[in-house]
Amino acid sequence: MRKPGKETIVPDKRPFDIDQAIFRIREAVRPFPKAALFELAEEGFRSPFEQLIACIISVRTLDEVTLPTARRLFALACTPFEVSRLTVAEIDECIRACTFHEAKARQIHEIARRIVKEHGGVLPCEPAILLSFHGVGPKCANLVLGIACDQPSIAVDIHVHRVTNRWGYVHTPTPEKTAAVLAEILPRPYWIEINRLLVPFGKHICTGRLPRCSTCPVLDMCRQVGVSTHR
Ligand code: SF4
Repeated sequence: MRKPGKETIVPDKRPFDIDQAIFRIREAVRPFPKAALFELAEEGFRSPFEQLIACIISVRTLDEVTLPTARRLFALACTPFEVSRLTVAEIDECIRACTFHEAKARQIHEIARRIVKEHGGVLPCEPAILLSFHGVGPKCANLVLGIACDQPSIAVDIHVHRVTNRWGYVHTPTPEKTAAVLAEILPRPYWIEINRLLVPFGKHICTGRLPRCSTCPVLDMCRQVGVSTHR
């Protein structure tokens, strides 16, 4: 097995430089919409509870749907106490544009109820507590810890996983393994930012099908692993 971060020399490619890649990608994604949770945080919805609920809404749901759906729910109720006072049917009605809205309405209500009962109405910034809620996986837990709690954490979704593998920066079969390897090799100042940058980068430049390699800002150092055709 290759050591994480160790790269093969490829003719015509310079060694992969993460500082340069981050620097260039910051510029490249500037024109694109921000990833939903970062956008909501900028709008002021940045408490751990709001970020957690927005992340649940975002699961298997486009950002274009997540954003208005989260705003709609938060206009009605945005604290654990307020959400716990709603019925599951009221939450469902409010979030029905998102995927799996019935199950998510039950999860959101239960999370709010437990936070009120077990944590005095304030969601603690603790990974074990976040992961104890039904419907909350490592990606959402790490986004909450990073964005709302300002704790260095790496949220790996499908974009972060795909792009870092194509770079040749990691060589991992699953997002979970990518998160583990990135925790070893990615400089800590980029832990929160990597998700904020690679979500729009993966949506608009290093796309799942036909990535835009010919105009990509990191083409000179990207190993283009697994890319057979591109734009
Ligand atoms: S060169 Fe192609 S594969 Fe590499 S990051 Fe850019 S778009 Fe993705």
